[in-house]
Amino acid sequence: RTYLDYNASTPLRAAARTAMLAAHDTVGNPSSVHAEGRRARAIVDTAREQVASLVGAKPSEIVFTSGATEANNTVMGAGWKSICVAAIEHDSVLAPARACGAKVVVLPVGTDGLVDLASAADAIAAAGSGGRALLSLMLANNETGVIQPVAEAAEAARTHGLSLHVDAVQGPGRVPVDFARLGADTLVISGHKLGGPRGVGALIVRDGVNLPALIKGGGQERRRRGGTENVAGIAGFGAAAAELAREADVAARIGVLRDKLESAVTAVTPAAVIVGRDAPRVSNTMCVAVPGKLAETLVIRMDLEGIAISAGAACASGKVGANAVLAAMGLPADITAGAVRVSLGRETNEDDIAAFLAAWQKVAGGAALAA
Ligand code: PMP
Repeated sequence: RTYLDYNASTPLRAAARTAMLAAHDTVGNPSSVHAEGRRARAIVDTAREQVASLVGAKPSEIVFTSGATEANNTVMGAGWKSICVAAIEHDSVLAPARACGAKVVVLPVGTDGLVDLASAADAIAAAGSGGRALLSLMLANNETGVIQPVAEAAEAARTHGLSLHVDAVQGPGRVPVDFARLGADTLVISGHKLGGPRGVGALIVRDGVNLPALIKGGGQERRRRGGTENVAGIAGFGAAAAELAREADVAARIGVLRDKLESAVTAVTPAAVIVGRDAPRVSNTMCVAVPGKLAETLVIRMDLEGIAISAGAACASGKVGANAVLAAMGLPADITAGAVRVSLGRETNEDDIAAFLAAWQKVAGGAALAA
C-alpha cells in the first residue's frame, strides 16, 4: 500500500508509541497528590513543555483536548456576538460558529485559495465595533495547502478590536508556527497530524485571555477543560512534537517529491488542473482535478490500485458532490466535483511517488480513457 493522505492523518512515530506504552504502564490520576498521581502529572507536564516549545508558546498557555475539533468548538462557544470566518475553514470551525448563536460573517476567498481580507475589511470593522467579536482564520488549508495571510488577519483584528483564532492543524512541520509572534489569542493543533496519536489536541490560549471551558468538570487544565487527562495520548503527542521540533529538512525534501509529482501528473494528464498552484502553499499537498473525472471514482480506483488519497476532507467524505472548499473559491463544477487531494509526509519516498504515478496513468491517464 502507498499512503498519501497525510493531511487526514499521519503514521504514529516510534517515539510517540514508546512514550504512550510507558504512560499506559503507570497508574494514577494526574490530580492525585500521592506519588503515583504526581508521576502521571509529570508525564502530562513534560508533554505540555514539548508541545509549547514546538509552537512558541508558554506551557501555561497549553490546554490539552480530545483533538482540534474540541479545541475549535471551545473557542467558537466562548460567547461571541459575531464571528468572522473564512469560507474555507474546516467544518470543526464552521459548524460550531453557525450553531453558537453569534452573527456569522463569511469572508470571501479568491480562486487562488487565499482569503480576501481587503474586500472583507468593512465587514471585519463592523463586527469589531459591535461588541465581543472573533476573527477565525486557518494557517494552511487542509484541502489545497494554501497558506493564509494570518499576519494580516492579526493586524486587522488588532485594529478593529476582534479576538483572533488560528486553526494551525496543518501547520507544524510544514510552515513555522510561532504563537508568541503570530498575534493570535487562541490557536489549535492536533496530535495525529504530526505523528502523534488520534484523539488528542491542544488549544493554545494566550496568557490573560479569558476563555470559558466547553467541557465543565473537575477544573483540570487550569479550569479550561474538565476531565481526567488522556495521559497516554498526551504523552504520545508530546513525544511527537519534540521529535518534530528537532527535524529541519523534512518539508524541503517532501517539497521536491511533491513538485516532481505535480510535473509528472500534468504530463500524464495534460488537462489536469492543480488547485492553488500560484498561491503560497505548504510543500506536501497536491490538490488536482481532471475535468470530466469524478473525485470519488478516482479515489476508489486508486484505492483498488493500492494508493490511499482523498476527495475532500476525510471528515466530510462519504458525502458525494462538490468539494466545499473549492466551491468557496469559486471554481467551476468540473473542478469542484473532480478534485482529489494527495498529501505527502515524513515517511514518503521516491517509491511512493512512482507507485502513485503508475496507478494514476492507469486510472486517469490517456491509456485508461482509450480502453
Ligand atoms: N482543522 C483542520 C484544518 C483539520 O485539517 C482537521 C483534521 N481534518 C481538524 C481541524 C480536526 O482535527 P481533529 O481530527 O484533531 O479533530
